[in-house]
Amino acid sequence: MLVDTHSHVQMRQFDADREAVLAAAFANGVAQLVVPGVDVASSRSALALAVAHPGRVFAAVGTHPHDASTLDADALQAERELAREPGIVAIGEIGLDFYRNLSPPEVQRDALVTQLALARETQLPVILHNRESHAEMIALLRAHGQGVRGVFHCFIGDQQMARDALDLGYWLSFAGPLTYPRNTALAEVAAWAPLDRLLVETDSPYLTPQPFRGKRNEPRHVALTAQRLAELRGLSFEEVAQATTRNAAAVFRLPDPLAGG
Ligand SMILES: [Zn+2]
Ligand SMILES: [Zn+2]
Repeated sequence: MLVDTHSHVQMRQFDADREAVLAAAFANGVAQLVVPGVDVASSRSALALAVAHPGRVFAAVGTHPHDASTLDADALQAERELAREPGIVAIGEIGLDFYRNLSPPEVQRDALVTQLALARETQLPVILHNRESHAEMIALLRAHGQGVRGVFHCFIGDQQMARDALDLGYWLSFAGPLTYPRNTALAEVAAWAPLDRLLVETDSPYLTPQPFRGKRNEPRHVALTAQRLAELRGLSFEEVAQATTRNAAAVFRLPDPLAGG
């Protein structure tokens, strides 16, 4: 039993077969999913999926760094109202992306700081997107993230970057890149980091694990990343599944999937 802690199944790439994709995930050992928003509209559609699949699908509300320019006062108020809905378990995804800079860096910083404050206000964890922005992310969390914790989603950094995140009380979530060859620094982090601070995710429809790389990703493939994590740590798949599922429940305060619903 696994939790896919980051899956954009609300996106248009799943419009033709969304329910079938979810059914395949549930039939293949994915007990629960967290569906993050990237703007207000996609946060709303994530919530709609959570409402349609109570106990199985949970949503996060947030504005992605790519879309940071859209986070005006109205959008922030909409996020604040959405965050109160049952089924919303986090503020996300939020963060910094200085690789693509689809919103200007200073706009990304403002949106992150604003949404960290929203997380504090709503007592929800955050889902952080962090690309080519590590030093600035850590500095911003130190300055503006007091009382907030959460997940570094799709963690692809080295051991020092992992240590920075862990020291701030954050969890690390591994996605498909853990299965890619030649990613030795990441493999070292996965083998070394404390097991009680690790999560797995797909980031569907992106970052498809081996051997399906190049195709659309979907939640059931989270097992491939969990399998790789187990290999790297010398553990059984079942041990990694249990640990990461327990961790996901702790971060997002998910109900026990065996309790029904
Ligand atoms: Zn992301
Ligand atoms: Zn994402």
